[in-house]
Amino acid sequence: MDSLRIRNSFHGFFEGVGHRRVPSSSLIPPGDPTLLFTNAGMVPFKDAFLGTEPPPAPRCVSIQRCVRAGGKHNDLDRVGFTRRHHTFFEMMGNFSFGDYFKKEAIAFAWEYLTKTLGLSPSVLWVTVFTDDDEAASLWQSVAGVDPSRIVRLGEKDNFWQMGNTGPCGPCSEILVDQGSAFSCGRPTCAVGCDCDRYLEIWNLVFMQYDRNDAGILTPLPRPSIDTGMGLERLASVLQGSQSNFETDLFLPLMEAIGKKTRIPYGRGQGEKDFAYRVIADHVRASTFLVWEGLVPSNEGRGYVLRRFIRRAMQFSLDLALPTPFLPDLSRRFAELMAAPYPELAAGMDRVVTVLASEEERFMKTLETGLPLVQELARSARERGETVLTGEELFWLYDTHGLPVDVVGDWAAPLGVTLDTEGFAVRMGEQKEQGRRSWTGSRASFPLPASRLSSPVRFEGYERLESPARLLLLA
Ligand code: ATP
Ligand code: MG
Ligand code: MG
Ligand code: MG
Repeated sequence: MDSLRIRNSFHGFFEGVGHRRVPSSSLIPPGDPTLLFTNAGMVPFKDAFLGTEPPPAPRCVSIQRCVRAGGKHNDLDRVGFTRRHHTFFEMMGNFSFGDYFKKEAIAFAWEYLTKTLGLSPSVLWVTVFTDDDEAASLWQSVAGVDPSRIVRLGEKDNFWQMGNTGPCGPCSEILVDQGSAFSCGRPTCAVGCDCDRYLEIWNLVFMQYDRNDAGILTPLPRPSIDTGMGLERLASVLQGSQSNFETDLFLPLMEAIGKKTRIPYGRGQGEKDFAYRVIADHVRASTFLVWEGLVPSNEGRGYVLRRFIRRAMQFSLDLALPTPFLPDLSRRFAELMAAPYPELAAGMDRVVTVLASEEERFMKTLETGLPLVQELARSARERGETVLTGEELFWLYDTHGLPVDVVGDWAAPLGVTLDTEGFAVRMGEQKEQGRRSWTGSRASFPLPASRLSSPVRFEGYERLESPARLLLLA
């Protein structure tokens, strides 16, 4: 079943049981400074859950664009390592605003999966929150799930919250057992294990509380339902794929990358495949974020976007992709998304211009900065050390405009780590100096020229990264 049919069947099923179809809202939550990006289908309905705004209808269904990078739900560092995590993905969800509650939510989800899509109950497992006896018994009475397939998990897995504050509640997840070939192989591997065997596809949140700044839970005016199912994960199950990256949502993009490199995807070359996955993921995220009006910057959301672009470029080195590659890949992705998002095409010229300009900018940084980091790593190793000192990081940053996290991305494969605390101390000193003297010049680290394999060129980067945002993705 291709992803377009999945989208249509999901909308169709829930419209059939009285839900109003609501289009995806923006990735950039309007008027919500507490949240970096829309990270779940419920985000646009936050005020409706809180009862401060009327919902579009008592029952709604949507397929919401989401980004999970930075903030409470941050999957940036998982992309490529698991078969199931992206930064940008689409969440299919049905919602009840004080209309139906647990019983119907469970019945709808089970019917959709096992009847409409025809998934065998023999591969399905469900989880419930530790003390949610009601949900556990409804799974048996309404869906006929065997008690041995109902697992109780704690707060980490089965209590959902959008952020540190806002609507939240216990939840119940539906998982697909993908078989032992997907297992991490540990004897303890079971439902709740963080590997890919028991793939969580759908989360049913029983929205009951509002959490305030002090962490206190207040019951919501009317208990509601919020559910979320990852389109890419469901596609991978229904298409019998090895991972989300081998579904129709990704494969054409992988092929487009493959045309630009001699290194093919999926030939068991772990590191190269990893690069393919990260690049494809980041192309998807950057395309939509720029399309929604975001531009790369040094702060907040724009910085996350910048980081996607830079990481894609850094991983492109593993595949020896000739630059520029982002514009082509972004256009290919927009073609793939043309059916569900007909509005995408009109904004693509701008998207491509923004991506091309950022790619060109960062290419210069890569060309000058990478040899410096390689050289520092080499001499550290020669000294029998595995750390780049705070002073060295400060020099890279202050004189060459190289942000610490970019250096971190490069350093790991070179076998060195970063003394980020030393760097923070050095940054603090600089700030202090700056306060004392407005006329102070930029400090430079007296690195002996002999330690550098290429002459140091001062590029005069017009922008310096703010220390505040260095912590953003920490
Ligand atoms: P996981 O435990 O696998 O990280 P989650 O519990 O964090 O998932 P939820 O917040 O419950 O995910 O989101 C609802 C659904 O959205 C998940 O069941 C899954 O299908 C999908 N989903 C969540 N995070 C991602 C992601 N990073 N990439 C792709 N799909 C995701
Ligand atoms: Mg998660
Ligand atoms: Mg989970
Ligand atoms: Mg979940």
